[in-house]
Amino acid sequence: MIKGDQLYEGKAKKVFTTDDPELLIVSYKDDATAFNGLKHGTIAGKGVINNKMSNSLMRYLEARGVPTHFVEELNDRETLVKKVEIVPLEVIIRNISAGSFAKNYGVEEGRVFASPTIEFSYKNDDLGDPLINEYHALALELATPEELETIRKYAFMVNDELKKFWSSCGVTLVDFKLEFGRLADGSIVLADEISPDTCRLWDSETGKKLDKDRFRRDLGGVEDAYQEVMQRLEENL
Ligand code: ADP
Ligand code: UDP
Repeated sequence: MIKGDQLYEGKAKKVFTTDDPELLIVSYKDDATAFNGLKHGTIAGKGVINNKMSNSLMRYLEARGVPTHFVEELNDRETLVKKVEIVPLEVIIRNISAGSFAKNYGVEEGRVFASPTIEFSYKNDDLGDPLINEYHALALELATPEELETIRKYAFMVNDELKKFWSSCGVTLVDFKLEFGRLADGSIVLADEISPDTCRLWDSETGKKLDKDRFRRDLGGVEDAYQEVMQRLEENL
């Protein structure tokens, strides 16, 4: 596989073309941002952990019926993926109140929901990724009704599988963000990443935060938390 031009540099990853028009190489950086890019920093070793964790979880999900963009891990930081047209929606599933949910609705963090919630943000940095509902997504023609149905079905499948998996690692899956894309044939697959950057992961015993909230909230021990949660994953896969 020949690595071609850089197509895009995002906040956490770079994306490169390859000699196959249907494949891309994603390269994970140690850069961290929060609050819509207002806070910048580096988390040493994060790119390696996020690459490997995301690939492990995508393989796990693929084996359980969720199609993903994952093709092959190339090295510590780089992965070959199927090229998709990203559906510009951030799909957020929550099992426990935290972050913007706790703030917006005036509840404490840590309230366990009877059923998981789903919400969508319009993936648009200039607008600050505003929350939208499905009618808005349809009005903006971000996805078709059938695509939204598929995305919702896969998002809840991901939650069911990852909740169980993380629980076996002594980790509680609080909430997470997913992105989906369309392959050349129009089918929907899970894309982007699943990592401590995009999930809230709490130690099941102590409640210790093992995710990007340590960076967002200046809690310290950011690198150690990423390593700890990666080690738990490797011990339990
Ligand atoms: P951001 O764009 O939010 O700064 P990243 O730094 O993670 O995010 O950049 C990676 C970009 O690549 C994101 O815009 C993401 O939507 C996109 N992407 C992820 N997976 C794929 C894929 N399989 N095909 C095309 N684009 C993808
Ligand atoms: N999230 C993400 N990218 C975003 C926004 C949210 O990966 O641009 C993840 C975040 O890590 C958390 C979940 O989605 O696991 C819910 O985030 P929330 O809406 O509470 O927003 P935040 O508190 O991060 O602003």
